[in-house]
Amino acid sequence: MLKLQGIAVSPGVTIGEALVLDSEGFRIPRRFVERSAVDTELERLKTAVAETAREIEHNRDAIRAELGEQYSAIFDAHLAMLHDERLQAELTSAVRDKNWWPEYAVSRTLRRYAKAFQNLDNHIAQRAHDIYDIEKGLLRNLLGQRRETLAAISQPVVVLAHNLTPSETANLDRQFVKGFATELGGPGSHTAIVAEGLEIPAVVGLGPFLADVSGGEPVILDGNQGIVILQPDEETIARYRVEVETARTVAAKLDQLRDLPAETTDGVRIQITGNIEFPSEAELCLSRGCDGIGLYRTEFLYLTSKREPTEEDHFAAYSEVVKAMHGKPVVIRTLDLGADKMLTERTPEEERNPCLGLRSIRLSLRQLPMFRTQLRAILRSSALGDVRVMFPLVSTILELRQARMVLADVMEDLAEHGIAFNAKMPVGMMVETPAAVMMLDAFIKEVDFVSIGTNDLIQYTLAVDRSNKEVADLYNACDPAVLRLLRRSLDVAGEAGVPANVCGQMSGSVTYTQLLLGLGLRQLSVPASAIPEVKQVCRSVSVAECRVIAERALTMDSAREVKAFLRDQMRRLLSESVA
Ligand code: PEP
Ligand code: MG
Repeated sequence: MLKLQGIAVSPGVTIGEALVLDSEGFRIPRRFVERSAVDTELERLKTAVAETAREIEHNRDAIRAELGEQYSAIFDAHLAMLHDERLQAELTSAVRDKNWWPEYAVSRTLRRYAKAFQNLDNHIAQRAHDIYDIEKGLLRNLLGQRRETLAAISQPVVVLAHNLTPSETANLDRQFVKGFATELGGPGSHTAIVAEGLEIPAVVGLGPFLADVSGGEPVILDGNQGIVILQPDEETIARYRVEVETARTVAAKLDQLRDLPAETTDGVRIQITGNIEFPSEAELCLSRGCDGIGLYRTEFLYLTSKREPTEEDHFAAYSEVVKAMHGKPVVIRTLDLGADKMLTERTPEEERNPCLGLRSIRLSLRQLPMFRTQLRAILRSSALGDVRVMFPLVSTILELRQARMVLADVMEDLAEHGIAFNAKMPVGMMVETPAAVMMLDAFIKEVDFVSIGTNDLIQYTLAVDRSNKEVADLYNACDPAVLRLLRRSLDVAGEAGVPANVCGQMSGSVTYTQLLLGLGLRQLSVPASAIPEVKQVCRSVSVAECRVIAERALTMDSAREVKAFLRDQMRRLLSESVA
């Protein structure tokens, strides 16, 4: 049994069979060869070995011609390893005697070698990379056309991968992918957000561990604690089964809150809206008792499609959500592409700092036809219900004005053609940069509402990449700097009488609910899965008590102190509700 600690990003516990995807995206199921097919499969293995050897020789000759003998020697070493008699005998025996599928035999055997090398505390440890190279070469040749994509998964699995991009995650089939764990990834990455949206338990930032697994092994993934257990023993499996059952009972209990309002014990009504990435999530939010959609991340329309979405594609998606909401508000955020939500066709040159580069509203203002197409569809959907539009990552007032100008222009166009839309559609902006917070008194005069995107606000305030596991411990919603920016934003919005929402992951975590209410927040936008729990906390506290908690937290000068204090408050609340 091997227990690994990573970063918990999407709650839930799952026990299943591992499907391993390395950085090249191979999937290696633990398959067995029929006895009658052993010879054919051995032949396939032999061909793959020969083909891989040919590739290595080709590379060796090319490097020798270009750089000389001394550099090409490494490839001779690869060849020697590939042809090593013991290795070849082991592979053959795995197929012939254990009936392992050749891919599985290659992956298992070579990873065992690589791991043995890695564990040596000397220069030989480096050789593990060579073994992985050989494994990749063999798998490439074995799988050939059979290399399947994640989308083709057709049986229940827990995906273990080096990394998953947000768009790969968006394309996962949640019917079969019961959870995933990655070596890379940080707490605020969009991969994490999508996993939560799809309600797939997930752990990221585990560091290198794929060498320890082959496909088909049992694995426990604990998305609540950020733990992955490889080859768990029976006792551990039994313990986790109980946990899954308990979670089911708690969820059923919380379900009963669905039709009750999120009202504090001193009678303040809190709006809890849902965050969605896909239209299908709207129903999920409704079934959990939401007051509307507070954040629709429309860029996933691009990330799940192979071609540029047309106006009709946009319109179909938006109308589905608006109709599902039956008059409840729907805040549609314009495209927030860029940074980790990349479209390669759109960014031909690598950006050195994509988070600080051409992303979000900046990109939309550069790609006006694309932006206008989206705005037309949003406006058309505004004729069907309570639609509001919101611009992401606004950092200067000129950007806001430009975006509004494009919107006004598109409205004029629609009016000229007699196309229905709501001319009074509310327009809002996201507050995601310290600059936006500092200038909020100016912005607030030009918007109908604001939504604080704490995921990015934390990233830009603390200069911490939200997707980078190496700095994950610095990515902290409890940082006093973040609290002060939140307070300022809510004060400015409150004074101006402009509604303010928090739609970053922070508002979906009950650890922060009391703090946020105490800071003056009356609208929270959270993933569907978090609605019942957040509602329960809202219904168990008074705003007066929350204010005291917020005031106390604001006197603290370290994130650690704030976190410990908030956890304490949460614990107290839980014990009171049990008593
Ligand atoms: C945020 O930054 O808090 C936010 C809600 O937007 P996203 O996570 O999509 O960047
Ligand atoms: Mg953001």
